[in-house]
Amino acid sequence: MDFKNKKILCVISHPDDETIGCGGFIHSLVRKGSVVSILLVLKSNGNRSKENWNKYLTSFKKACSILGAIPLIHDELICEDIAEQNFWKLNTIIEKYTKQYDVILTHCPFDLHQSHKLNSKSVEISTRPIRDHKTVMFFEVSSSTDQGYFKNFHPNFFVELSEIDVKNKLKAMKCYKNEFDFGRTPEDLLLNLKVRGKQIGVKYAEFFRIARIYS
Ligand SMILES: [Zn+2]
Repeated sequence: MDFKNKKILCVISHPDDETIGCGGFIHSLVRKGSVVSILLVLKSNGNRSKENWNKYLTSFKKACSILGAIPLIHDELICEDIAEQNFWKLNTIIEKYTKQYDVILTHCPFDLHQSHKLNSKSVEISTRPIRDHKTVMFFEVSSSTDQGYFKNFHPNFFVELSEIDVKNKLKAMKCYKNEFDFGRTPEDLLLNLKVRGKQIGVKYAEFFRIARIYS
C-alpha cells in the first residue's frame, strides 16, 4: 500500500494511544515523506489525567514531535464521561476532520475501552462509503484491545519497523511517565513489537486491521 502523497489522520481517545497503537508506523510514514496529524477530541476522565491535564497535553505534544506528527487538539474538548450522551457532537467534530484526509487510523471497534469504541464508531459514521472513500485502519492498544473475553482484533496489515522507528516510539512513550501501567511501559511496548515481529519473521512490527479500502 502506498501512503506517499496521502493525508493521514490518526483519531485517538487519549494522549498516548497514538504512541502505543501506531507510534512506529507514524514515524515510518513521516520518515518516508507523509504528513500525519493526530486528532484529540476527548478530555480524559481518569483521576491522574484530570488533575494534570495540561501536563498531559504537553506530553502529547512532545510525543507527537518525536514521532514527527502534527498534534490537533480540538478547541472544545468533550469530557470522556459525557461523550456517549454527546455522541452526535463527537461525530460532527470528527467528520469535520476526517473529510480533509485520505487515510484514517483509529481504535478497533471491539476494543474494551468505551471511549476507544466511541471514537471508532464516529470514524465509521464519518467515513460512510456512500459519501466519501477513505481508507480506514484500526490499531491495537495493549492493555485494552487485548483484554476482552474473545480475540476481536484480527490484523490483516503488517508493518515492519526499522530500529529508528522503534527507538522513537519508545522515546515518545517515555513522555507519558505518569501514565505507565501494566502493559504500557516502554519495555512492554518493545516486547509487543518483538512478538508481532516474530509472527511475521522480522525483528519488529506493528499490526493493523484494514476496515475500508478502495481502488
Ligand atoms: Zn486510550
